[in-house]
Amino acid sequence: MTSPRAEPPTRRAFLSLGSNLGDRSVHLRKAVDQLRAGSVPAVTAVSRVYETAPVGGPGDQGPFLNLVVELAVPAGTDPYQLLEQCRRLEAAAGRVRTTHWGPRTLDADIVWIDGVELDDPDLTVPHPRWRERRFVLAPLGELAPDLVDEADLAAAGGEVRVVGML
Ligand code: ATP
Ligand code: CA
Ligand code: CA
Repeated sequence: MTSPRAEPPTRRAFLSLGSNLGDRSVHLRKAVDQLRAGSVPAVTAVSRVYETAPVGGPGDQGPFLNLVVELAVPAGTDPYQLLEQCRRLEAAAGRVRTTHWGPRTLDADIVWIDGVELDDPDLTVPHPRWRERRFVLAPLGELAPDLVDEADLAAAGGEVRVVGML
């Protein structure tokens, strides 16, 4: 008798990607392509692209483009590996750190990993501010309605509008 080959268990992870410097959609597309180029974790879904008002930081910076990517992360993966991947995406976009919450070619944050709670100086999961941000909740709600509370979405800060797909 042959037994079916078991797929390794995975968890959903959600990254928020944002850009408000340079060619914003190119930065987002390259980041998603870079994630797709690696087989683990697998990209399982990408939200639509939203143009969003900056939340916090200097008042004179331009609007962001934001989206959320869903990944299938093998269970047991160290969340810091995902943080490293976020940092690699930002470095590939030539991100230079200037003002806190200032303009950036690419910001890649871990919003949520199913079953993971971490509160370390370098990594907090779920992201500490995700439920206050419409630029996270709106695209996340497309991919994971189970995670997004309509009341949070209504109360969240920052205008957003869909501008298309990648
Ligand atoms: P915010 O965290 O409010 O969205 P930011 O994205 O502008 O602000 P950054 O300067 O990009 O902040 O990140 C600062 C540090 O936050 C990162 O170097 C990382 O170590 C840490 N960090 C903590 N939790 C997370 C997370 N869930 N995703 C990404 N970075 C995180
Ligand atoms: Ca951020
Ligand atoms: Ca960040």
